[in-house]
Order: sequence, then structure tokens, then C-alpha cells
Amino acid sequence: MDATAAADIELSGVRKEYAGGSVAVSHLDLHVPAGSLTVLVGPSGCGKSTVLRMVNRLIAPTAGNILLDGQDTSRIDKVALRRKIGYVIQHVGLFPHQTVSQNVATVPKLLGWSKPRIAARVEELLDLVGLDSGMHGRRYPHQLSGGQRQRVGVARALAADPVVLLMDEPFSAVDPIVRHRLQGEFLRLQETVRKTILLVTHDVDEAVRLGDRIALLSEGGKLEQYAPPAELLARPASAFVAEFIGTDRGIKRLSVTDIDPAVLRPVGEADRDSPEVSAAGTLYDALAALLEGGTGHVVVRSGENLLGAMTADDVYRAAQAEVAAA
Ligand code: ADP
Ligand code: MG
Repeated sequence: MDATAAADIELSGVRKEYAGGSVAVSHLDLHVPAGSLTVLVGPSGCGKSTVLRMVNRLIAPTAGNILLDGQDTSRIDKVALRRKIGYVIQHVGLFPHQTVSQNVATVPKLLGWSKPRIAARVEELLDLVGLDSGMHGRRYPHQLSGGQRQRVGVARALAADPVVLLMDEPFSAVDPIVRHRLQGEFLRLQETVRKTILLVTHDVDEAVRLGDRIALLSEGGKLEQYAPPAELLARPASAFVAEFIGTDRGIKRLSVTDIDPAVLRPVGEADRDSPEVSAAGTLYDALAALLEGGTGHVVVRSGENLLGAMTADDVYRAAQAEVAAA
């Protein structure tokens, strides 16, 4: 798979007024860097789906431009444009009377690929999303769990190696435990494919977990803040943002803050009984482990090495230092 196949998306002065006069998006400027995972988050009805549907030209903007790698999408042939863009929607939208393999093969078939090439691609993609092609390929969508259907939807969207992936509430139809697992798998998948991903959700926790950058919208597609998760949580730009991300934003911030080895104290004799956390974890993981133990310390481990220990005060100080730096 081509690891560099990602495109830059630029929305400028984009407006969408539906027939009847409802203004879904009044004026949006947004730059989505190539290879980033940008999350559009905001309350229901604020225009998120409308933005996605304008990017792949399911609907046309009333005003403004959308550029893909500098090219005005309104001037790209619609079929050629859709080939560059994979689209995943909430209820997945798999074809019910086609098998999993046939579903994934949809776009390659339209493109006239040879049978062996399609078969190889389907197998590669099912493997990529963690499904066994021998076992699941011949099944029909109703014979899969919600999480498996979701994976098939992602495989189908990636089939022709698009440069952009648009995802509209892709994980909201599955239960919280499956959702959490799918989100983790999805982050690993993105490390492999490095697409430009524009993902819509109404769930702040999902936005914080997944996004490299978060674009927070209010009604009418108004861009309230556009920032990496840590910055959004540390410095909400308006009362609207602060309220939307919630009064527990300090706790949420722990989950996007790495453990800084420089703040650790030496491991002592008492730490034989202290819980451990991986050095790759976050302050949230450290605090969670600390609360599980009874020593008041958590020990940070990197492979064979114990890097040091932290107390709850140390977690607090590290979190405060991060705010000052943001
Ligand atoms: P979100 O995805 O953030 O929930 P949408 O983009 O679906 O929001 O909708 C934004 C606004 O546009 C809402 O007020 C919605 O009712 C309106 N809207 C969406 N689709 C249409 C349509 N086809 N015709 C008229 N109004 C629409
Ligand atoms: Mg929507």
C-alpha cells in the first residue's frame, strides 16, 4: 500500500444553505493537513455531516471553495473525485445482499480491475482491518457483529487506496467496549496507511482520543476552535468550547499528556509493592495505576528498566507544567 498517498484539504469561505433557507454552514475556513487525522466535533445539527458531504460532493456548497491538493474539487470529475475519497458512515451502509468480499470489492470492480487483483486486494484489506478473509469473506453483513461490520465498512472505503478518508460518526452504532477497541485498532491502522482523515463525531472523548487536531463547531458550522487536543483542553477559546468539552477537562487532559521522565523520583525500597505503568503511557494511566495501589507511588517502567516513581503530587505538578507549556 502506498504510504504517502494523502492529500491536503482546504475549505475556504464555505457556506451551505439548504432549500427552504436553513443555513447549515455559514462561513467555514479550515485547513486539513495531508496525512493528519482531523476530527470535526460539535453538537447535533451544527453542520458536521454537511461539511463532509460537501467535501466529496454529495452536495454542492452554496458559496466558497474546497481544494484537494490545491485543486478545486468542483472542477474535478465527480467519479474521479470519489475515487480519491473513501467514505464511511454511521450505519456502515454495507450492501445486505452481497458478501463481505463483494462489498469490499465494490470500487475495484467499478474500476475494472482483474479478478485476481481484486481477490488479492480484498484479502489484503480484510487482513488489514483484522478480519480473516477465509472465514468472514463469504458471510453476509447480517452474519457479522456490529464491530465486524464497521471493520468491513473501513476496508471497503480503503479499497481503491483513496487519498482521503471521510468518516461520519463511524463508531457510534457500536457499544462502548467495542467502540473503544475499534478506536484503538483504527489509530494503529492510520499509522500504517497515513491517509488524510476527516472524522465527524459528537463525542468529545472520541475526538480527544483520535484527533491530531480537533475542529470544534457550533451551530451554523461556526469554527469555535481548531487545535490539537491538549491545547483545546488546556486553553478553551470560548465559554462555548469550555462548556462543550466539560468540567472534567483537567482529567481528560491527563489522557493526552505523556509521562515526562525528567519529573520522576528515584525508585525506593518501598516501591517493591508499588503498581507500575509503562513509560509509553499517559499521566491518566499513571494516576489510574497509582489509585489501584496502596503505596502512594506508581513506578514507571520501560522494558527491563524502572525509570522512576511518581506520587499523586507529581502527577498534579506534571499536569500543571503541561498547561503552562501549552
Ligand atoms: P450534524 O451532522 O452536525 O448533526 P447536519 O450537517 O446533518 O448536522 O445538519 C446541519 C443543519 O442542516 C441542521 O439544522 C439540519 O436540520 C439541516 N439539514 C441537514 N440536511 C438537510 C437537508 N437535506 N435539507 C434541509 N436541511 C438540512
Ligand atoms: Mg451528522
